[in-house]
Amino acid sequence: MTASMPHVMNTYGRLPIALSHGVGCRVWDTNGKQYLDGLGGIAVNTLGHAHPKLVAALQDQVGKLIHCSNYYENPLQERLAAMLCELSGLEAAFFCSTGLEANEGALKIARKFGHDRGIARPEIIVFEKAFHGRSIATLSATGNPKVQAGFEPLVEGFVRVPLNDIDAVKAVAANNRNVVAVFLETIQGEGGIHAARWDYLRSLRQLCDEQNWLLMLDEVQCGVGRTGKWFAHQWAGIKPDVMPLAKGLGSGVPVGAIVVGERAKNVLGPGNHGTTFGGNPLSMRGGIETLEIMIADGLLSNAAQVGAHLKGALEAALAGVPGVQQIRGAGLMLGIELDRPCGVILSRAMEAGLLLSVTADSVIRLVPPLILSVAEADEIVALLAPLVKAFLAESAPTPQP
Ligand SMILES: *Cc1c(COP(=O)(O)O)cnc(C)c1O
Repeated sequence: MTASMPHVMNTYGRLPIALSHGVGCRVWDTNGKQYLDGLGGIAVNTLGHAHPKLVAALQDQVGKLIHCSNYYENPLQERLAAMLCELSGLEAAFFCSTGLEANEGALKIARKFGHDRGIARPEIIVFEKAFHGRSIATLSATGNPKVQAGFEPLVEGFVRVPLNDIDAVKAVAANNRNVVAVFLETIQGEGGIHAARWDYLRSLRQLCDEQNWLLMLDEVQCGVGRTGKWFAHQWAGIKPDVMPLAKGLGSGVPVGAIVVGERAKNVLGPGNHGTTFGGNPLSMRGGIETLEIMIADGLLSNAAQVGAHLKGALEAALAGVPGVQQIRGAGLMLGIELDRPCGVILSRAMEAGLLLSVTADSVIRLVPPLILSVAEADEIVALLAPLVKAFLAESAPTPQP
C-alpha cells in the first residue's frame, strides 16, 4: 500500500497518487492528471491553491522573518488576534499550530477554570460522534471508539451525552457538581456532518450562563467562513466562551488559535501554557492574509451562495435514488449520507478526477476551497452523481444487526 514511501510510518490509508501543484480549485498529480478539488486538504485550503495574493505575502514574509520565539513581542500575533476578536466578538486569542493543540489548550482552560473555583476534579461534557483530535486528551474527548482503541487508559474527566438533547445535559447538571464546561463541534465534521441545532446552541448558552460553565465550541473544521458566516455558531446568534480554530485559518499554512471571551480570557497566565511554533511570523502572516483576502474577495457570501447551489444541485441529481439517506450541512461543508459504507467512492472519484473524502464510513464529504465557483460546483455534481448512482446500484446494503 505504501510501497513508494517505505520510510514514512504507515499511519494513513493513502491513495496511489502524489499531487504536485495546483491553481484555484484544480490540482495536478505527478503524472499530469488534473483533479477538481472538492476536499481542499480537508477544509484547509480556504483560498484554493496558489492564490496570487497569498503567495506574494508569504514570499515577502519568508524573506523577512519565518520564526522568532515567544520570548519577544510579536506584532503579527496582535494583528491576527485583533482581527479574530473583531470577527467573533470575543476578547483574546492564543496561537498554536494545529486543531488538536487548540483543543488541548481549551481543555486546559476548562480544568484551570474549575480549579480556580475550588473544583479539584473538574469534568467536561462531551458528545457522541465528536472528533477533537488525536492527542491522548483530545482522543479521550472524541466520541469514536476507533480513534481511542489501543490508546487506553483514556484521560478521565469527561461525561458524554448525545447531541441535540438538552435534557441529557440538564440531567448531568442536576447530578454532577464537578462540571465546568460543555465542549462540542458546532457542526461535527469527522462524525458525519451533524450540526448542533440553533435552538439547542441557544439552550446550551443559557444553561452555561446559569451554571457558570464554559461553552467551548470546536470550530476547527466549520469555522473561518466555511458555512457562510465567519463562525458557524453565529447562525444561532450566540457567542461561545472558548473557540478553538485551525484548519482553514491559514489556507494551508499551519495556524491554530484558541479565541476566548470575557469568562475565559484571564484563566491562563504566564507559565501556564505555551508552544514553540505557536504564532510564528510566517504562520501569522498566513492567517492575516487569509482573512484579508476572504474579506476583499467576498468569500463568506460565496461560500453561502455556492454552497446552497451545490446542495440544491446534489439534491436534484440524487432525488429518489434508493440508498441516498440525506444531504446535509451548511455552506461549503456538505455531507451525502448513504445507507451503506462507501469508502470505495474515494478512489473512484479520484479516478474520475474529483477529490473528496468519505467520513463516518457512509458519508461522502465535500469541503472544497471557499473560492469554488457555481460552474465548479456543477462540475462536482456532474462527476459525483453518476458515481454514487452506479455504486448504489451494484452494492447491497449491509444487513442490520
Ligand atoms: C481536524 C479536526 C481537529 C484536529 O485538527 P488537527 O489539526 O488534525 O489536529 C479537531 N477538531 C475538529 C472539529 C476537526 O475537524
